[in-house]
Amino acid sequence: MRDNDCIFCKIAAGEIPSATLYEDEDFRVILDLGPATKGHALILPKEHYRNLYDIDDEMAAKAMILAKKMVKKMTDVLGCDGYNIVQNNEEPAGQTVFHFHMHLIPRYKEDNAGIGWNVGELTDEVRDEILKKMK
Ligand code: AMP
Ligand code: ZN
Repeated sequence: MRDNDCIFCKIAAGEIPSATLYEDEDFRVILDLGPATKGHALILPKEHYRNLYDIDDEMAAKAMILAKKMVKKMTDVLGCDGYNIVQNNEEPAGQTVFHFHMHLIPRYKEDNAGIGWNVGELTDEVRDEILKKMK
């Protein structure tokens, strides 16, 4: 299934040119046009899934296995010092393209890429509330 209005469907299908690092029958891996660091790449499934809520289990598993393979290979190629895997779901979480994708972001010592969050505090009240609801 694909979405004719989706830019990542078109890129994944090869209808829009991209800097492709890897391709197989299920995925295309491309360089991000607005990289956080040198080598920032995106894993795109060729099928259209809106995000993690939508993707089927088999493809989600394959995406993570591919992420592992790409991270290992690209660490050798780029000589980076670490990696972030980022995957945004829905607008409040920073998703801007609504076709499932995983960001593979190489990290370099003192790259100041600014990926992170403000560290809060887990209160007893919130901990208990969540644990109760999860049962
Ligand atoms: P997200 O905010 O998680 O939805 O990420 C979307 C990402 O797609 C951003 O990092 C953009 O820089 C990247 N992006 C958008 N359009 C393109 C494109 N045509 N080719 C490559 N990367 C793109
Ligand atoms: Zn799509």
